[in-house]
Amino acid sequence: MSDTIAAIATGNTVSAIGIIRVSGDIALTVSDNIFRTTCGTKLKNAENKRMYYGELIATKQGDGSSVWSSSETEEPSPCLVDLCLCTVSRAPNSYTGEDMVEFHCHGSPVVLAEVQKVLFSQCVRQALPGEFTKRAFLNGRMDLTQAEAVIDLIESETAVAAYNAAGQLRGKISLKMDSAYNRLVDIMAHFHVVIDYPDEDIDEFRLQNYLITLDEIKREFQQLIDTHERSKVLRNGIPTAIIGRPNTGKSSLLNALLGYDRAIVTDIAGTTRDTIEEKVLVGNVLLRLIDTAGLRKTSDHIEKFGVERAFAAISTAGLVILVLDGSEPLKSNDYDALRSIPQEIPKIAVVNKSDLPAALNSGELDEFGVEICTVSALSGEGLDSLENQIKSMFPGFDVIPSGELLTNTRQAEAISRAADSVSLAIDALRASVTPDATLTDLEAALTAIGEVTGRTVREDIINRIFERFCVGK
Ligand code: GDP
Repeated sequence: MSDTIAAIATGNTVSAIGIIRVSGDIALTVSDNIFRTTCGTKLKNAENKRMYYGELIATKQGDGSSVWSSSETEEPSPCLVDLCLCTVSRAPNSYTGEDMVEFHCHGSPVVLAEVQKVLFSQCVRQALPGEFTKRAFLNGRMDLTQAEAVIDLIESETAVAAYNAAGQLRGKISLKMDSAYNRLVDIMAHFHVVIDYPDEDIDEFRLQNYLITLDEIKREFQQLIDTHERSKVLRNGIPTAIIGRPNTGKSSLLNALLGYDRAIVTDIAGTTRDTIEEKVLVGNVLLRLIDTAGLRKTSDHIEKFGVERAFAAISTAGLVILVLDGSEPLKSNDYDALRSIPQEIPKIAVVNKSDLPAALNSGELDEFGVEICTVSALSGEGLDSLENQIKSMFPGFDVIPSGELLTNTRQAEAISRAADSVSLAIDALRASVTPDATLTDLEAALTAIGEVTGRTVREDIINRIFERFCVGK
């Protein structure tokens, strides 16, 4: 028995369509109370996953509010809330694994709130964040990696992240985990036999095969873990420090790339005293732009702090954009800024203010090995070529993954523990340790794999995972 929950699955804004989901034991009964299909079919008898057109009816009470009333004393007067579509998905073949009804209404927050009100007056309660997906997980409709892929897909900020999440929703990580799990269980089953029946032995040929399998599993885990670093950048964006001396146009460039005025632009040197951070998509490349305080020697205490933060941003950047004022010759502060960028960090020198007469000799930049782009942050001239330059420096964002990138840190941490345990088991087997000792390591590996897929994960962790979801998902 599960209580019945409902929630608006679409956002609380005006839109063409707004969806209300209902899931639980009485989903069909309560929905039949408020929806009349135009073809006359009761939802209880409706075909699975077919769209029915009909009328959503609330019942006007004495006080004028349109809350459903099953009062026997007075015949309630029905009020039409919406003309809409409705689908029924019966347990166990629904998203949650329970009986589900979805109303596809006109996307007015008022209409949707009214429909919810009617549902809540009939023993239906408001769904908690992520409760539909949590029920799907608890009812075995998806494992934890797939549930986490749902939220990744919803929150994806780049095409790469979306494709990767979709692949994981289809079960890319689950398949790998299940395959490793089953191979480990096979080996462990034999070890148990050896322990229970002392006459049994593991012959050399079998032992070698087990070692090969364990090595394979370890390698597969390692390959997954290796993708985690790459996926972090794809997911969170490349930390991009915009640096340069005051007044070269750093804030203007940030605003131009963002397409709106985020940073304050003034001609008073030292306006950006701290760092400002914004995400922007350049083609498929996600940049986490960090506008830094102008780099110069200063006695101003607060500005000094900003300059220190700027240097910190440079040292952790994945890309540094040095903004130079093309209407002036290079100055000592420009050279200092150039020298402050570590060799290994990709960098672009943006020669700004191309709308003004040029005074900067870009040949003087040759010795620093930087890519040069000439732009006007004010007019937008040259921004296209700057964007193309950035795209060509990060081709990884154009490689569309299908779920093989491990984006989730919780999963990466558990897989890493599983890999360590398998490694210990391999060492033990090579050192001819008895099977019972090896079993402890293999058990630990199984537990860690179980945490990834949710087979053995603690309830509080499950709760924490689903709290991150939005209501209605
Ligand atoms: P920051 O201190 O490096 O962040 O520089 P700002 O973005 O605040 O710009 C400093 C001044 O330069 C402001 O007056 C901007 O309007 C001006 N500026 C920025 N970019 C350009 C440009 O491309 N052309 C011209 N003519 N002026 C610019």
